[in-house]
Amino acid sequence: MEVRNNYINGQWQASVSGATREVINPSNGEVIALVTDSVAEDSKQAIAAAKAAFYQSGAWRRMAGPKRADLLLRIADAIAARADELAVMDTLDNGKPLREARCDVDDAAACFRYYAGLITKPQGGVYEVSDGFGPMHAYSMHEPVGVCALITPWNYPLLMAAWKLAPALAAGNAVVFKPSEVTPLSAVALFEIFHQVGLPAGTANLVLGSGPAAGQELAASHDVDMITFTGSTRTGQTIAAAAVGNLKKVGLELGGKSPNVIFADADLEGAVEWAMIGVFFNQGEVCSAGSRILIEESIKDRFVARLAERARAMSIGPGMKDPDMGAIVSAAQLEKVLGHIERAKQQGATLVCGGVRHTAGECAKGYFVQPTIFDNCTRDMDIVREEVFGPVVAIQTFTSEAEAIAMANDTPYGLAGGVFTTDGARALRVVKEIRAGVTWINCYNPTFNEAPWGGYKMSGYGRDLGVNGLLEYQQVKQVNINLQPGPVGWYQR
Ligand code: NAD
Repeated sequence: MEVRNNYINGQWQASVSGATREVINPSNGEVIALVTDSVAEDSKQAIAAAKAAFYQSGAWRRMAGPKRADLLLRIADAIAARADELAVMDTLDNGKPLREARCDVDDAAACFRYYAGLITKPQGGVYEVSDGFGPMHAYSMHEPVGVCALITPWNYPLLMAAWKLAPALAAGNAVVFKPSEVTPLSAVALFEIFHQVGLPAGTANLVLGSGPAAGQELAASHDVDMITFTGSTRTGQTIAAAAVGNLKKVGLELGGKSPNVIFADADLEGAVEWAMIGVFFNQGEVCSAGSRILIEESIKDRFVARLAERARAMSIGPGMKDPDMGAIVSAAQLEKVLGHIERAKQQGATLVCGGVRHTAGECAKGYFVQPTIFDNCTRDMDIVREEVFGPVVAIQTFTSEAEAIAMANDTPYGLAGGVFTTDGARALRVVKEIRAGVTWINCYNPTFNEAPWGGYKMSGYGRDLGVNGLLEYQQVKQVNINLQPGPVGWYQR
C-alpha cells in the first residue's frame, strides 16, 4: 500500500521515524491507507522551512494581495474539480454520510473563495491624532503574524483544514499544518493542490502524526509565532501551556455542551427536526452539537415522543450508502460514547431510545451507535455536564424563561446554543443572555464562512471564519508620521 507523506519545503518526504500509521475506515474497520507517522524532528524541519519562507524569502508575504487572492481562487477551483474524490475520501476516513461530506467540500472551496475576496478589501485605518509634538498623522496596517502552526481534529477533516489554512494563507503567513492522525487523507489531497497551484516552497507545510509526538513541538517551539488549534478542551489546555514559552499568539476552538432551548410556543415539528440536526448531524461529532435539550415542561412528553419516533426511523449505515447517520470515527471514540451511555444509565437518566452499538447487517464490523435520547436528566449527571461527541442527547425541563436561561448557562462551556419560540422578543432576550459564541434562533447548526465562529468560557478563545477569522492571523502595526520634519524644541525649554 502506498504511503502518504509529509510535505515540507515543497517536497513530499517520509518521517525521520521511518514508521507508518494505518488509516481505518470506521464503517468496516478495514485499513484504507498508510501515512507516515511523524515525530518532533519532522515538525522542527517543517517549522524551519516555514521560518525561512517567511523571514528570508518572504515571497508569499510580499506578494501583492490580489496575486495571493488569485492563488487562493485557484485552490478553490481545484477543490471543486476534485469534489467527488474529496467527499469520498472524507466519508471513508471519517464515516460520515456522503452527502454531508459533499457539503463539507463545497464549504471548503467557498472558504478559500471568501478569504481570497476578503484579502483584497480595505484593511487598517487612518487616524486624526493630537498635535502636541506638531502636526502628526497616524495610520494602521495589517501584517501577517509570521510562522503559524495549525492543528485540527477529525470530525470535519477537509473543512477544518480550510477554516484555518484559507485565512492564514490569505494574510500572508507561512504555515505548518497538522491534521488529526485519525483522518489525514483529505489534507494530503489539499496539499497536492497547493503544490499544483504553485504556492512558494515552504509557505505551506504538512506534518502527519499524533498530537504528543508531532503536535506538541508545534505548540512549544519558539520559532512558531502563532498556534491555532481546534479540538478538545483538555488538549487545548496542554497547547496553551506549551505555548507560554515564547508567548506565541494562541487561538483555541474547543469543545462544548451546548443548550438547545425549546419553548412551548415553538413550531413543534420544526423544533424536532432542527433538534435532530443539532445532535445527530455528523453522528453528533460536532463541537456545537445541541446535546442538552431544555424543553418547556408542558410540551415535553409530546416533543420527546416525536423526537424518539423520528430518531428510531433514522437509517444507519456506511457513509458511502448515504444513510441518515454514518459510523463513529474510530474504535476508541465508539468506546468513549458507549461509556458515556452506560454512565448515564447508571446515574439514573431514562433511556428513551438507542443506547446501544448498532451491528445490524453491514454495520457488524463498523463503529455505529444508534441515535440515543435520555430523558429525566439532572444537572449533576455526567450526561448533562460532559461532552460526549456522539449521537446522544440529554433532555431536561424548565417552567420559566429565567429558569431556562440559568440552565442553559449552567456549564463550563460556552460554544453554542439555540432557542425555539414564535415570540420574537423572547428569542432575542434569551439569545442575549446565553453565554456562548455561536447562537441560533428557530434553527440549529447552520454555519457560514461569512460569520465569526468561536467560544466563550472553556470552549476557547479567538475566532475562525468571517472578518474576525482573518484578523486572528494578522498583526496590526501603527505608523506615525511627522508632517513637519525637523527639531521640535522639546529639550530647549
Ligand atoms: P483532540 O484534542 O484529541 O485532537 C485534536 C488535534 O490535536 C489532533 O490533531 C491531535 O493530534 C492534536 N493533539 C493532541 N494532543 C496534542 C498535543 N499535546 N499537542 C499538540 N497537538 C495535540 O480532539 P479530537 O478528538 O480530534 O476532536 C474532538 C474535539 O474537537 C471535541 O472536543 C470537539 O468539541 C472539538 N472541536 C471543536 C470545534 C470548535 O470549533 N470549537 C470544532 C471541531 C471539534
